[in-house]
Amino acid sequence: MKGIYPGTFDPISLGHLNILEKATKIFDEVILGVADYTAKENYFSLEERVDMCRKSCSHLDRVKVISFKGLVVDFAKEQDCKVLIRGLRAVSDFEYELSLALHNVKLSEDIETVFLVPSLRYMYLSSSMVRQLADLNADLKDFVPAVVAEAFKEKRHRSL
Ligand code: ADP
Repeated sequence: MKGIYPGTFDPISLGHLNILEKATKIFDEVILGVADYTAKENYFSLEERVDMCRKSCSHLDRVKVISFKGLVVDFAKEQDCKVLIRGLRAVSDFEYELSLALHNVKLSEDIETVFLVPSLRYMYLSSSMVRQLADLNADLKDFVPAVVAEAFKEKRHRSL
């Protein structure tokens, strides 16, 4: 079976990778869908986000990274896929994720969302926390793949 793991991935973190690794044990093929549209302003461009995702999951041969515009349910149909994968962290994710899943069912009733729980060490890791830590010049090695830590450093140098 095929599953789509959609998100902004701004940037991809070790928490996202943890979910992806778990997903590859359940699904035959996992599409990591990088959303072009988001309600928030992105830190990294779509191209940068896709590039970092590709480099970070090159060791996972069941994973394909594809960007998409528009609704995730339309992207799922295009990819001939009926399952969306989302990560569920602490209680704070629950309301938002539930609402998203219910809206997606309303938009396309044959698409289901499954939730995977990350390992405890990633339970409170978010891309927004990573961006804040990067702003404060923290060591990011426990939070993001090396390629992402490098990208933050490059952006920092360019802005100095
Ligand atoms: P979005 O912008 O759509 O919320 P994100 O890129 O922030 O997407 O995250 C994509 C998915 O990965 C979401 O389901 C989110 O809850 C999940 N996720 C993000 N960080 C983690 C983490 N540390 N552990 C588990 N799941 C996570």
